[in-house]
Amino acid sequence: MAGGGNAIRGSRVGAGPMGEAERGDAAPRKAVTYFCANEHRSVVTFAVEATSPDSWDCPKCGLPAGLDSDNAPAAPKIEPYKTHLAYVKERRSDQEAADILEEAVQLLRSRRKSGDIIF
Ligand SMILES: [Zn+2]
Repeated sequence: MAGGGNAIRGSRVGAGPMGEAERGDAAPRKAVTYFCANEHRSVVTFAVEATSPDSWDCPKCGLPAGLDSDNAPAAPKIEPYKTHLAYVKERRSDQEAADILEEAVQLLRSRRKSGDIIF
């Protein structure tokens, strides 16, 4: 068949904010859950016509809260001054973390080599 290119037109259906509004609902509202860095969970209701923002100030602690429970927005750090000691401590814990990771990787590798994975 010649003359292709008559593909389905890319009309987008259903591209809207999550949480579909059902017609005939008594209260046309939608509930959006926000998560903050303190693991607070805040359900905020919006009118269905309203576009819910990506972030919301947590009513419990005031930190910015986001839609992703696993990835809450980081609290804005108000660190007036970082001491040298703080840097050293940070470095050290980083090194420890790296050591632990290295150990884990080697353990994993040695297990893979021998072919038996023990849970
Ligand atoms: Zn909070």
